[in-house]
Amino acid sequence: MVYEIEIILIFVLGLIVGSFSNVCIYRIPRNESIIYPGSHCPKCRKTIKPIDNIPLLSFILLKGRCRNCKSKISIQYPLVEFLTGLIYLIIYLIYGLSIQTLIYIILSSALIIIAFVDLNQQIIPDVISLPGIVIGFILSFFVPYISFVNSVLGVVVGGGIILVIGLGGSVIYKKEAMGGGDVKLAAMIGAFLGWRYIIISLFLGFFLGALIGIILIVTKIKKREDVIPFGPFIILGSFITLLWGKQIISWYLRF
Ligand SMILES: [Zn+2]
Repeated sequence: MVYEIEIILIFVLGLIVGSFSNVCIYRIPRNESIIYPGSHCPKCRKTIKPIDNIPLLSFILLKGRCRNCKSKISIQYPLVEFLTGLIYLIIYLIYGLSIQTLIYIILSSALIIIAFVDLNQQIIPDVISLPGIVIGFILSFFVPYISFVNSVLGVVVGGGIILVIGLGGSVIYKKEAMGGGDVKLAAMIGAFLGWRYIIISLFLGFFLGALIGIILIVTKIKKREDVIPFGPFIILGSFITLLWGKQIISWYLRF
């Protein structure tokens, strides 16, 4: 029974943090304060009452529209809340009540914010990735599951791979294939997960990026020359790796 309550609490915590992440996703690229003013409708600017600001539930009860002006609320809001709750829950189920769970849920939230900012604006905010590299490195001195050598290697290998591929791509395609934002993002994930996991994350990211890119072009949702941001794929790859990296490595070693 206690375990069930813990599971519900961790999911609800994810929903609440996800709700705050929505504020960050909207305001960070606009250089607005993430604290003040409180939540308001982007169309009519009216302040949203606490009763209309309940994660997931309010969106359903209001049928996805602002109570005041009836303009549509983006599906991204409940999606970010649900994704955050789901990832918190899976991390908890795998790593239990541990320092690793705490750090991974904080990392996940940072990554979800970066992924959606990149999808919306094609930028990866330095205000998250740069402190992220430093925090990931400092934490490695205090946690049992990653050494500081592994953390440094993660930064160098992660940032280095994207840097080399980005430079190679810009020579071949004569335009920027991967930006400096992607380099700092890979370095940040490397600082938290170490060199093995960042290699797996990037490999999965490239694979999923290519696969989904082809699907989007074949189905004519995107054109060949359209820019598809790569950050969300690095992040998707790193989520799969931080959840199931152990299984991926032991599966690989069987060959
Ligand atoms: Zn409104």
